[in-house]
Amino acid sequence: MSFPATGYPQLDVLLPRLEAIAALDAKGLQGERIAVLGRKQGALTFALRSLPTFTPDERKRFGALANRLKEAFEAAFAAREAELAGSTDVPAAGGGLDLSMPGRGRWIGALHPVTRVIDEIVAIFRELGFVVAVGPEAETEWLNFGALNFPPDHPAMDMHDTLYLTEGGNRILLRTHTSPVQIRVMQAGPPPYRVVIPGMVYRNDPWDASHAPAFAQIEGLAIDEGIGFVDLKATLTHFARRFFAPDTKVRFRPSYFPFTEPSAELDVECQICHGSGCPACKHTGWMELLGCGMVHPKVLEHCGVDAERYTGWAFGLGPGRTAQQRFDIPDIRLEYGGDMRLLRQLAGQEPL
Ligand SMILES: [Zn+2]
Repeated sequence: MSFPATGYPQLDVLLPRLEAIAALDAKGLQGERIAVLGRKQGALTFALRSLPTFTPDERKRFGALANRLKEAFEAAFAAREAELAGSTDVPAAGGGLDLSMPGRGRWIGALHPVTRVIDEIVAIFRELGFVVAVGPEAETEWLNFGALNFPPDHPAMDMHDTLYLTEGGNRILLRTHTSPVQIRVMQAGPPPYRVVIPGMVYRNDPWDASHAPAFAQIEGLAIDEGIGFVDLKATLTHFARRFFAPDTKVRFRPSYFPFTEPSAELDVECQICHGSGCPACKHTGWMELLGCGMVHPKVLEHCGVDAERYTGWAFGLGPGRTAQQRFDIPDIRLEYGGDMRLLRQLAGQEPL
């Protein structure tokens, strides 16, 4: 690196040293940096000490030149340093190697939004003494429908809604809900039961903004002596407030399911508009969270549980839909489509 002569001998004397930097080795570079720019003994620092001997105009000119020379030294030191660092990494690289090429970004993994919602729900119910239960995704018609008190002609059993894997009596199908795991839990041993059941379920549904042929579901089941509807309301209200916010308003609406009686839908105050109405809640101020109810005595009897002695409740929800509400995802296909642009944003990373 070269620098034009300044006409000031105390600066010009340094110019050959500036040019010599390009040939220094690592150790020499370190020593020379201190010798020129050092705050106490540096040659340039020393030259600047003559500043007060100039007239005000001269002082301005000399100061500016000295500063530019200092910048030139700093640039030369940095350039030589980079050159030396590169030469140790790439010995005798030859041509064809572009050291200015940007590096590859590291791939950072993160939990899928639906998995995050499932994990949170499971954590809340674990605090209440529930354990996780899972079961197969291919089930018999009996466990998926019959044992759950679906009448034999229920429309859900239609081929248009259910994906069957085999023909004939008690066909094998892809489970349409996680409820057959409730039956499996109850058949495996005597009450009490307190389980949460996450898993994938399958429906013969179109792939559109609010439907998917495969999606996640999570259910809960509590059966013991003396469990009433008040336990259902208290537990699920607690859950909704733990999941959203402690002051979240909830409401139970009467509903119908074959496997519970009475049945209800639990709505929570819209988390976006807080009840005043917005497009996300279709201007109702409420969002559907889950379906629930007292387990039908016939379901208990099908599992060999004494329905006179034991009672309990169950609930089920779609964590995909809950994740849509929580992360403001307008289309369910985005959740199950594996689009990295969405997943990166939800993981707190820059979009691609
Ligand atoms: Zn709203």
